[in-house]
Amino acid sequence: MQFYYDLHLHSCLSPCGSDEMTPANLAAMCALAGLQIVALTDHNTCGNCAAFCRAAQSNGLTALSGMELCTQEEIHVVCLFADPEAAQDFSREIARHLPPIPNNPERFGRQLRMDDGDEILGEETAFLAGSTDIPLYQVPQLVTRWGGAAFPAHIDRPSFSLLGVLGLWDPDLGFTAAELSHRCPPELACRPDLAGLKLLTCSDAHYLDQVWGAEHTLDLPECTPQEVVRYLACRPGVG
Ligand SMILES: [Zn+2]
Ligand SMILES: [Zn+2]
Repeated sequence: MQFYYDLHLHSCLSPCGSDEMTPANLAAMCALAGLQIVALTDHNTCGNCAAFCRAAQSNGLTALSGMELCTQEEIHVVCLFADPEAAQDFSREIARHLPPIPNNPERFGRQLRMDDGDEILGEETAFLAGSTDIPLYQVPQLVTRWGGAAFPAHIDRPSFSLLGVLGLWDPDLGFTAAELSHRCPPELACRPDLAGLKLLTCSDAHYLDQVWGAEHTLDLPECTPQEVVRYLACRPGVG
């Protein structure tokens, strides 16, 4: 069956995300947009995922916890988890790999931790949008160890992307899926090195008005977080 998805969304915990992107607002907007499967993927943290998943589920959505991990090479990778506890463990692990830089809210934006009722729980002090010291080739194994799945984000963009940094798709990395940005020229998807990949398009919304009307679908046997992870799972260690 086909299910409308958006697996790359930011909340107000991302410094570049609007303060209006509270977990409750975002979940309500996703439901209004007609989405069925959604994931919160803030930069290098799953800190607002529990609140988002609760809010999304109360809006009738299938929700995954996730993050947009920035590797040592400054390549963005969307990491997703069906199990909220595993996502929190993964987030604690990634926090150990962040640069020791405090956030500057005036310069980069606030990083708000929220509950699912629009209450601010606190402000994250570590700067979340920098690059970790984790090399790209370790990401599939790392995510698989926590029971999740990962795919390189917006690979057609010139910066913070696998193709922008590496120049080509390396199948030995073990990723089986990739995200194209919504501005991606259609011919890029026909590149021979991308043949056989599951290509996704998500909104990468940082503002409420960037959450689209439902447009892209996943073909899954049932609409569960586990089926999404199974569909996207990496093949770590292939190389
Ligand atoms: Zn990104
Ligand atoms: Zn993003």
